[in-house]
Amino acid sequence: MSNANYHIIGGGLAGLSAAFYLCNKGMGKRTYIYEASAHLGGRCYSFYDKNFDKNLDNGTHMIMSCNKNLLNMLKKCGGADGLEHIKPAVFPFLDIAENYGWLLQPSNGPLPLFLFNKNKTIPQTTAKDYIIDAINIIKEEKNCTLSETLKGSKLINNLWKPFCESALNISPEQASTKIFANIMKKAFALGGLSSRPIFVKHDLSTDIINPIENYLHNYGVNIIKNSPVRDIKIEQSEIKSFKAKDAKIDIAKNDKIISTLPAWSVNKSFPDINAPSEYKSIINAHFLVSLDTKLAGGNSFLGLINGTAHWIFVKNNVVSTTISNADELLKYSDEELATMIWKDVCKARGRVAAFMPEYKIVREKRATINVSPTQQEIRENISNPYKNMHLAGDWINIELPSCMEGAILSGFNAAKNALS
Ligand SMILES: Cc1cc2nc3c(=O)[nH]c(=O)nc-3n(C[C@H](O)[C@H](O)[C@H](O)COP(=O)(O)OP(=O)(O)OC[C@H]3O[C@@H](n4cnc5c(N)ncnc54)[C@H](O)[C@@H]3O)c2cc1C
Repeated sequence: MSNANYHIIGGGLAGLSAAFYLCNKGMGKRTYIYEASAHLGGRCYSFYDKNFDKNLDNGTHMIMSCNKNLLNMLKKCGGADGLEHIKPAVFPFLDIAENYGWLLQPSNGPLPLFLFNKNKTIPQTTAKDYIIDAINIIKEEKNCTLSETLKGSKLINNLWKPFCESALNISPEQASTKIFANIMKKAFALGGLSSRPIFVKHDLSTDIINPIENYLHNYGVNIIKNSPVRDIKIEQSEIKSFKAKDAKIDIAKNDKIISTLPAWSVNKSFPDINAPSEYKSIINAHFLVSLDTKLAGGNSFLGLINGTAHWIFVKNNVVSTTISNADELLKYSDEELATMIWKDVCKARGRVAAFMPEYKIVREKRATINVSPTQQEIRENISNPYKNMHLAGDWINIELPSCMEGAILSGFNAAKNALS
């Protein structure tokens, strides 16, 4: 057995999945995770809010049933029970300007028969509209944006915009068609079995991060929190040492480093690596409401068209809303944002107006990288000159946008390469 130690920098999903892979290869006790903050999970985490007297998520994370790496890892860690699968796959929408709603309900298999059922598609659209757009997206060869590919499409506002903004965190005017096409192929083109939405039952830390942390702990992984890695010494394209907490960690000959730093930290810590440098924000607003709160149509979540909020979710007495691609809204105060979003929530609950309850706004300014065609090009050309280091993180996997599944896959790949 190798006597190498594996030093993982960063305890987000990429770092946790790299450690998970190493555990399963018998390297648990030789694996070290150095996490800068007090919690694992990185951009996927929950925090206790005393006004709500419960854990709130930094942002509602939607998992899709095609996210096999995430789902399998959670199952192995004993976390599968914490997930709620929406079966059959269905996406309810409400246009709050026009006050009408619809369901988008993919057929289970790859044959898109639902396109011929007007109760399962957007009003006043035909199967042909979807098929032409889907073909144009999948066969796009130029490095262009989704709105360039879909010029003149009838479905931009009610279909492609909401899915593009939630999957890629960017508008169709800016998004790379190629990366959107990858999502289409992996999720929607395979039908409802691959595109079921999945949510956590309690909160992200309880249902996703804690089961993974416990699993790693049981396999002897050394998890060192509050421990930003700094003063990284590099000689002849090798990492020789770094500091974590108050200790200097010397890297022995066979040791491997797995960096799972987010793109902005990589650009600072490793000047020879050119990682994406543009990011997009997400704003979440949580409202404390009464226990019997229901959304239009009795749904537990809704996509909103023509509102400030994009998605709205109800869990017990908390209504949570997500705004992707939210850079333009960062200029508003919390109170201004809450007022705008609360109006949408009232409409989605079928109420004209109501007093604003307790709220919490969470701003994630660098929620994801910007998956524009130019930033995608940077992703496609990443080179890593450091011989004893492997890279992981949601910005690495060029097939997927910045997302949980991409982070996890990158962690597995980096760990596999570190072992070989
Ligand atoms: C509000 C919001 C909503 C989202 N919604 C979704 C969704 O619905 N579906 C989806 O799939 N994805 C979603 N995402 C994206 C998803 O959360 C991220 O893609 C994923 O969590 C990134 O994981 P990562 O490990 O690559 O990076 P990170 O989570 O950023 O982890 C990097 C870790 O490195 C640590 N670190 C930084 N510097 C140092 C240092 N010097 N030393 C040690 N540690 C360091 C950080 O503290 C962090 O813990 C969302 C993100 C946000 C913010």
